[in-house]
Amino acid sequence: MTTSETGAHLIDGEWVTSSATGISMNPARPDEPVGEYPLGDGSTVAGAVGAATAALGDWAKTSFGTRAKLMEQTAVLIESRIEELATLCTLEEGKTLPESRGEVALAAETFRFHAGMAKTSTERIFPSPTPGETIRTVRSPLGVVGVITPWNFPIQIPAWKIAPALAAGNTVVWKPASNTPLLAVALARILHEAGFPPGVVNLVLGPGSMGQAIVDDERVHGITFTGSVPVGVGIRDAVTARNGRVQLELGGHNPAIVCDDADLDLAVPAIVAGAMGATGQKCTATRRIIATPGIRDELTDRLISAVSALQVGDGMHAGIGIGPLVSPGARAEVAEAYDAAVAEGAEILAAAEAPAGDCFFAPTLFAGSPDLSLGRDEVFGPLSLVIAADSDDEAFAMANDTEFGLSASVFTNDLWRIDRALHELQAGVIKINAPTTGTELHAPFGGDKASSGHAAREQGDTAVDFFTRTRTAYIRPGRPV
Ligand code: NAD
Repeated sequence: MTTSETGAHLIDGEWVTSSATGISMNPARPDEPVGEYPLGDGSTVAGAVGAATAALGDWAKTSFGTRAKLMEQTAVLIESRIEELATLCTLEEGKTLPESRGEVALAAETFRFHAGMAKTSTERIFPSPTPGETIRTVRSPLGVVGVITPWNFPIQIPAWKIAPALAAGNTVVWKPASNTPLLAVALARILHEAGFPPGVVNLVLGPGSMGQAIVDDERVHGITFTGSVPVGVGIRDAVTARNGRVQLELGGHNPAIVCDDADLDLAVPAIVAGAMGATGQKCTATRRIIATPGIRDELTDRLISAVSALQVGDGMHAGIGIGPLVSPGARAEVAEAYDAAVAEGAEILAAAEAPAGDCFFAPTLFAGSPDLSLGRDEVFGPLSLVIAADSDDEAFAMANDTEFGLSASVFTNDLWRIDRALHELQAGVIKINAPTTGTELHAPFGGDKASSGHAAREQGDTAVDFFTRTRTAYIRPGRPV
């Protein structure tokens, strides 16, 4: 694939360009741009919101059968283009081709899951003290939904949001991240081809200010956002100030506690995958590895071997386990965190070899105090810190000592410790003997503390809660006339 890829906005069923354009870069081969895409502005957003507003009335009235058929067709089309989409994902984002294939397959599965969910009743019936009366809840769509997504799961996160939004009868204005515009265009093409009516799904490409324009548009009833904490907090304040609805999935600084009784054959690969997979660019990545005294030395030796053996390179090449970071800017941020860790006295335990290049960075394992900036601030890259805890009590306290609360793992076979983890860890996702990363799309997903907003959880059967309004009806039979 070369610069022949050209993107466009999708507004009211038409492919639209802008006079300004941007270039989508391949982080593994910066001299081989992936393609060109239009850079929109506030007027592009206004047009897309206008189209979504106009399409809402008819789309909200479509039957669940019609919506489910279009969603299923979307899943079929994604599956039929899995290699093409996965290749584009690796070229734009940098993750390895097997990682991209997995992500694309999950995106298809997400549309299929919500096609099924569209056929599931979410109504409830309540008893009434009044004889003959029925109390019943019905759901109607939230309305026009702004979908604002990051680059690190450039097809899966949009699918998590767009599929339940459409299934519930909403119309969508989607603003993807600027690092991955062409994969967004490829998904929008599939939605268009699947047969969603004009204006039901709109795609706008360009800078973060376009996301802000969606947020500020009074015609948009709700915003679902995944991205960084500062941007998310700004969106929350703006949307709640105008009484809109907002769903936020933000950052993480996720701990893995390794207890004295842990099975290290299981723990070590799970921790390395959680810390370094997707080049550490996951909100659920394992950043802190907290080990108790009876297991720490052996765990550290095994982690050193595993991290040193990681193969870093162009994600298009077979045998590569870790691709580049997404951009030179992302690499500069990771390098800054690395330098700060060294300056603050962290010990380098292991580092893989990385090729030269603007975006490659060696996965590195440090040891040190939880008070290092590496132990507190989110780093979106392959750096993790081994922390010594004197006891289970201290390990659990350290795990919770963070502003974030997205995911946490505990490696143990002890039922008491497992029960303690489920009740004491302040995280939205708790894994026992499994990586902090990876979730199932039919189960709820979201975090606590600064990692998420307070709206309904994404994914699973809770996804519908954000995208619908509940009405409570009291129905009394009249007398026959
Ligand atoms: P980002 O916040 O920089 O950008 C996310 C999206 O917001 C992009 O589309 C961007 O163009 C847009 N945007 C930027 N400024 C905006 C504004 N003022 N108003 C509205 N939209 C605006 O995040 P990123 O760098 O793309 O992604 C990395 C971050 O995402 C990390 O912090 C990571 O932890 C987080 N993340 C969280 C989850 C989760 O589920 N909790 C999942 C993946 C990524």
